[in-house]
Amino acid sequence: MFCASLLLIYCLESKSKLTDRIGQAMAQRIAIIGGGYIGVELAKSLDPLAEVTLIEQNSHFVHAPAMVRAVVDPSILERALIPYDALLKRGRVVRGVAQAVSETEVTLTSGEKIAADQFVIATGSSNAVPFKPNGAGIDGLRAANAQVHAKLVEAQTVAIVGAGAVGTELAGEIAHAFPNKTVHLISSEATLFPHHPPKLGRELSSKLKASGVSLTFGARVENLQSLTEPYSGSLSLSDGTKVEADLVFPTIGSKATSTLLQTLPGAEVSGADRVKTDAWLRPSTLRNVFAAGDVAETGDAMTVVGAGRQVAWLKTTLKALIGGKRVEDLKPYAPWGPKAPFLVPLGPKIGNSFLGVFTAGNFITRKLKGEDLFLSKYNKILGRKS
Ligand SMILES: Cc1cc2nc3c(=O)[nH]c(=O)nc-3n(C[C@H](O)[C@H](O)[C@H](O)COP(=O)(O)OP(=O)(O)OC[C@H]3O[C@@H](n4cnc5c(N)ncnc54)[C@H](O)[C@@H]3O)c2cc1C
Repeated sequence: MFCASLLLIYCLESKSKLTDRIGQAMAQRIAIIGGGYIGVELAKSLDPLAEVTLIEQNSHFVHAPAMVRAVVDPSILERALIPYDALLKRGRVVRGVAQAVSETEVTLTSGEKIAADQFVIATGSSNAVPFKPNGAGIDGLRAANAQVHAKLVEAQTVAIVGAGAVGTELAGEIAHAFPNKTVHLISSEATLFPHHPPKLGRELSSKLKASGVSLTFGARVENLQSLTEPYSGSLSLSDGTKVEADLVFPTIGSKATSTLLQTLPGAEVSGADRVKTDAWLRPSTLRNVFAAGDVAETGDAMTVVGAGRQVAWLKTTLKALIGGKRVEDLKPYAPWGPKAPFLVPLGPKIGNSFLGVFTAGNFITRKLKGEDLFLSKYNKILGRKS
């Protein structure tokens, strides 16, 4: 009898503590600006724990890694553009453009104000069409994809300016889908991926060459006409050579979308317009405003891989804040450093990946990324059924 009473008291106490904790959590409002990789994954993971509002200007999430293949194979485009309507169960996704953030609210260009206790700014970066929207929304991106695909089908010679991951993958995709086209990949660097272990660049270079791609290193294009869209034209290179191309893809010059962040007190802009953060990913003197992903200079590269690590940290940190902890008492963010994984498929079958301690070849790259490009993962996260 005595034991049963003790058990009852214990259960009632635990229940009331639990109710308190849930009440505290429910009272916390978290506003996330930008529905890219940071915004979507963070909003989803905090949805059961707090009142989440995700603010996004476009109707659909854009899965950038698949937008490269969508240029050669538009049949995958709709799986790479995923509506936000099934992302959250409790929280909401507000369609709008954030123009100001304070310690208490986000103001949208429509005049709507969204109050919150914690804010995360993840407005990402811009890129040339048809890889990311250029202000014309998702329909504009669909139109750009159709237009560029049609030009690609017609083109005999294609030049890709910039041999980062996007340029290199695009060269591989075109060589795989259209083996009869002439593809030039032009880089101002001395090798492919000089900041990674040499084996990665070496193996990717020889696979590209074997697929018929012509590689030019150590030369700058001196007359690039556009950084924002593909065009047809003649390229003059700093080594004196000329390349006539039916289609030129600019794949350099990605810039952070940091106008909003730059308005915050104490914000400091760094390379590629990214805004510096403190050790707890705060970009300004506002203590409850965090920034992550491409827009923030966190120590990570502008990659989904970097975003994934930041989401995990933000989730733990925001959960602790919901539980009443002070941010300065929590573990600071530690970026990936040189062990960041880096996966570079050259079409659906071949490629190489650096996996922190070793460089993997075709099979692992195909299984990890090349076959599906994480399309299944992001369609699942966003709750799309088919
Ligand atoms: C073609 C391409 C392929 C890529 N492939 C890979 C890859 O294979 N692997 C990899 O690791 N990385 C890849 N990347 C890089 C990767 O896409 C980025 O690192 C990633 O998108 C960054 O995520 P994010 O959440 O910071 O920002 P983003 O994904 O850019 O999302 C930002 C969101 O904020 C929204 N937004 C911006 N301003 C406002 C505002 N004021 N109000 C409301 N909403 C706003 C935008 O509409 C956008 O939806 C690729 C990039 C490109 C362009």
